[in-house]
Amino acid sequence: MARDVVGEPGVVAEPWRGHAGTVPAVPPPSTDLVVVGAGAAGLFAALAAAREGARVTLVSARPLAETASYWAQGGLAAALAIDDSPEQHLHDTIAAGRGIVRRSAAKVLCTEAPARFADLEALGVRFDADRHGNVALGLEGGHGIRRVVHAGGSATGRRILRQLSADVVEEERIDVLEGRRVRALLAGDDGRVVGVACDDGRAVAARAVILAAGGAAALWSRTTNPPGSYGSGLLLARAAGADLADLEFVQFHPTAVVGIRGREGFLVSEAVRGEGATLHDAAGERFVDELQPRDAVARTIHRLLAETGAPAVYLDMTAIDPARFPNVVAALRESGHDPSTERVPVSPASHYVMGGIASDLHGRSTVAGLYAVGECACTGLHGANRLASNSLSECFVFGHRAALAALEEPVTPAALPPAPDADIAPAPSRETRAAMWRDAGLERSAEGLARLLDDPHPLARLVAASALARQESRGAHARIDFPALDSQLDDHHSLVAAGAERSTFVEWT
Ligand SMILES: Cc1cc2nc3c(=O)[nH]c(=O)nc-3n(C[C@H](O)[C@H](O)[C@H](O)COP(=O)(O)OP(=O)(O)OC[C@H]3O[C@@H](n4cnc5c(N)ncnc54)[C@H](O)[C@@H]3O)c2cc1C
Repeated sequence: MARDVVGEPGVVAEPWRGHAGTVPAVPPPSTDLVVVGAGAAGLFAALAAAREGARVTLVSARPLAETASYWAQGGLAAALAIDDSPEQHLHDTIAAGRGIVRRSAAKVLCTEAPARFADLEALGVRFDADRHGNVALGLEGGHGIRRVVHAGGSATGRRILRQLSADVVEEERIDVLEGRRVRALLAGDDGRVVGVACDDGRAVAARAVILAAGGAAALWSRTTNPPGSYGSGLLLARAAGADLADLEFVQFHPTAVVGIRGREGFLVSEAVRGEGATLHDAAGERFVDELQPRDAVARTIHRLLAETGAPAVYLDMTAIDPARFPNVVAALRESGHDPSTERVPVSPASHYVMGGIASDLHGRSTVAGLYAVGECACTGLHGANRLASNSLSECFVFGHRAALAALEEPVTPAALPPAPDADIAPAPSRETRAAMWRDAGLERSAEGLARLLDDPHPLARLVAASALARQESRGAHARIDFPALDSQLDDHHSLVAAGAERSTFVEWT
């Protein structure tokens, strides 16, 4: 079938120079862009590029239902109400980020989120409406006004991803390599990224590569994230020479399920507490103001569990209408636990990494030809603490921008270099994940972080180095040895330069 392509298509040359000399059975596609990851950011970027007439190869290691995007329960934030504005959204984003939000990036997010919301509607996503038929806007912690849209109540991620993946399947310009892991980025002699090598030996050349490989919260043993979210995109980018930023900032969610078979780490949305659910200790007493910010509630629970040695605290949602949270209630009931009659054992879990591949307002990393979007990227827009529901919006706003910018890259050179043999982005061991939880968890100290510097996992060491260098407590980063915020570090982001093992501070505008 004839295909329209912007400019010249990418050229695949020496296509089989993957690792170990393996030769795949089918030839690789020639392509303009390779997008790595099929979560919200990857699917949207691929569609945006294809709709510009580009040929895209989308590579996805895991099934749709194993992406963080699919699991998103809340919604996406956009200033849609008549009495709201991008300026007010920006104000709330900056306040949540505790003095180091990169204003230019946050401004892009808040200004363009309404247009990307409209794109999603045009692509067929049906968002929840109020009884007048207008889009229903929810209020979440940190937002000064109702601006969070949902689809299917607490099934927002699932609804959006099902629609986007159906659109991708329909889009003839997008080739999907499912169940394939990108094991290395391929760069020319000048360092420009010109393709990827997959784990089946296949190599794909392109004028640019967009990494949309998700976050790294599964580097910690207790997590709300799917197991694949251990930061493989960050390590692939680093091996190609990219800088990483703000790795010390990791959000811990206060209420992830404990000890219910098959549901370990399952997230019980914050909105449940907003509706009146209460938290209790083992003796049944309330011990925290449930409506405090996420990081404050998480740390109070963490301290109580550390003091008492109890495995969990208990979330009482018996007074909540189960119909308000159908996903949560159904998931718990499937595991034999009825939240409308019994309290749910919960404790904090790592949830979202603010840090990632340092990238500019168009998703460009510090390496030519390489882009990063979604949770694997760090534009600095979240600062030290993400405002709830800004992350899905980020996937669409920066996925769209990166797709357009990447198509401006020069045409792919004629030869692809060989992929390295070493495993650049190994999964963390059980020991590493436990060490991350112990030493880089909700409260950190120099002693624990120094221990982590010797961990075998490369990303664990870099998180430790960044957290060690930030000698203050700010947003999601809490040091027991430096409990106060250091205003001299306002607007300072930590940067791990390519090849470096330690971070330095840089000011971003
Ligand atoms: C339980 C939960 C609830 C959440 N709720 C909300 C919410 O309500 N609102 C909100 O804004 N945010 C929410 N978040 C955060 C938000 O869902 C994520 O930040 C966002 O979905 C990340 O999207 P992504 O496309 O960057 O990554 P993901 O959705 O994680 O997708 C990553 C993709 O990359 C692929 N991949 C990874 N490595 C490779 C490789 N080497 N080769 C090939 N493919 C690879 C994976 O298979 C996957 O397809 C939630 C997160 C969780 C875990």
